[in-house]
Amino acid sequence: MQPTFSVVAPVYNEAETVPHFYQRVTAVMERLGEPYEVVLVNDGSTDGSTEALHALARADRRVRVVDLSRNFGHQIAISAGLDYARGRAVVIIDSDLQDPPEVIQQLAERWRRGAEVVYAQRSKRVGETRFKLWTAAAFYRIIRKLTAVNIPQDTGDFRLLDRAVVDALVQMREHHRFMRGLSVWVGFRQEAVQYERQERFAGRTKYPLVKMLRFSVDAVTSFSHVPLQLATAFGFFLAGLSLVGILIAIILRLVNHAIVGQASTLILVLFLGGIQLIFLGIIGEYLGRIYDEVRARPLYIAREAPESAAELSDEPPTAIGQSR
Ligand code: UDP
Ligand code: MG
Repeated sequence: MQPTFSVVAPVYNEAETVPHFYQRVTAVMERLGEPYEVVLVNDGSTDGSTEALHALARADRRVRVVDLSRNFGHQIAISAGLDYARGRAVVIIDSDLQDPPEVIQQLAERWRRGAEVVYAQRSKRVGETRFKLWTAAAFYRIIRKLTAVNIPQDTGDFRLLDRAVVDALVQMREHHRFMRGLSVWVGFRQEAVQYERQERFAGRTKYPLVKMLRFSVDAVTSFSHVPLQLATAFGFFLAGLSLVGILIAIILRLVNHAIVGQASTLILVLFLGGIQLIFLGIIGEYLGRIYDEVRARPLYIAREAPESAAELSDEPPTAIGQSR
């Protein structure tokens, strides 16, 4: 039977938190009073989370575990969860209890009233460093400037998606995934619910600065060509400037006022070389992503997974991790 709700949560080394997460989610879902399932995606944990998840699945049939063969990253783990979720509405939530499960009640309420994407928007963030708050704010501002999709400020991946939206998302198999962008890109009726983001229950963030930067580059490149177009704009600007420079140089030469050589030449060469390398790097970012897509490897490999939503319908089963 198709459950009404699926709760999808990625788990990466959250052994301490998992039992508490399960309890709080269960309490909320029981209150909603409709059939539900909890899809927990183990993203290559090495700290005993795997055993904890399997124990939960043994004790409660509504818990289904997708066990990825290694760490594939947060966004891919969420995508794997969506592949296996069967509910008519799917809630994506972090398993570290930073997204309070109690908010699911409000998300469900909005969904029942007709919203198709209900995203949880942080009105407040408890226990984050000032650096994280500042980088997050800068991140959303840059994304909004550079991309055409209007990604709402201060939203994470905590959201509820209607089945129609999930079906659309599951079809998108791009490798560098920015889920909160994709779930806006698909359209549908989108609504926001405010909540206060909590401190981590235990453990520490799995998003160090380097990963955060890579995540931002993924976000920009998946939704914008602006960095590439910047090269054209900059080229025109510099070409215009050099025209003036050439004129001045010729005139000075004619009136026998040679420009003093080395320093100015050196500065120009180094400056232009630097600019060119930067744009070469930007092209490289896009090129690398094209390469990743062309190879068309599966998004993830699952060591062990329940029957996927696709397998339960009429479609023929596909290879592991490649569902659809
Ligand atoms: N996570 C994951 N794979 C990863 C990194 C994180 O599945 O490679 C999970 C993690 O267990 C957590 C959620 O994604 O439930 C969000 O990660 P985290 O709390 O580290 O990010 P932050 O909240 O600090 O942005
Ligand atoms: Mg977190």
